[in-house]
Amino acid sequence: MLKQARTITIAAPILLFLVGWTLLQRQPPTGIQSNPRSETNENTTANNRSWLPFGRIDLATQQRENCANAPFLIPTEGYIGLYYNDPSRPYNQTRPHQGVDIFIDEAPGTVPVYAVYDGYISHRWEWQSAVIQRIPSDPLNPGQQIWVYYTHMADEYGNDFIEPAFDYGANEVFVEKGTLLGYVGNYDGNVPSRIHPHLHLSIVKDDGWGTYLNELEIANTLDPSPYLGLAVGYQSAEINNPNCALAN
Ligand SMILES: [Zn+2]
Repeated sequence: MLKQARTITIAAPILLFLVGWTLLQRQPPTGIQSNPRSETNENTTANNRSWLPFGRIDLATQQRENCANAPFLIPTEGYIGLYYNDPSRPYNQTRPHQGVDIFIDEAPGTVPVYAVYDGYISHRWEWQSAVIQRIPSDPLNPGQQIWVYYTHMADEYGNDFIEPAFDYGANEVFVEKGTLLGYVGNYDGNVPSRIHPHLHLSIVKDDGWGTYLNELEIANTLDPSPYLGLAVGYQSAEINNPNCALAN
């Protein structure tokens, strides 16, 4: 009996240590969280992301290609980061992400952004890095007007990478699908900005009177998945690599 008790006394701390050590190995390295699905700069450093079950390359998407039966082309080449309706930082459950983010590892201002569909581009004077596109008839809901919002097309100080044709004040400039709009940047409204370069794309509902609703409210936006032919809704977030086949 005494011998048995002694064995437990010795074995228990060893077992606890082993369990603790194993659990620690599963945690991200301290200081840097390297989630490739995060919007913040610190969290998307290239180092130490081996704890994730997937890396950025697994999130890569195609450039300027339509998925079969999808009306929109994919506006830039990169990797899908934050999904639609995603509660990951800096968003949360009550204020989830209203669009989809396509991240790049190249320098800001070098990766092109193309119009996803035919429509009319406007650039409000107060928007440093964004344009909005009016699509008079939603290809998935004909007769319904929708809007596509493209943002973060400026450097960390707010110098925009938007094509001159869509300069500040541009109003209802018609573009065909695939027209160059600008380049992916890293401006988030603060100077200097601290986000990782990415394009934020959201599909915004019309108010019924010909104007877009506030894109910051998720209720005013649509899931881009059926438009892009990619499973980019948060419900699909278990899918590591959104691609055309997975949307079906
Ligand atoms: Zn975003």
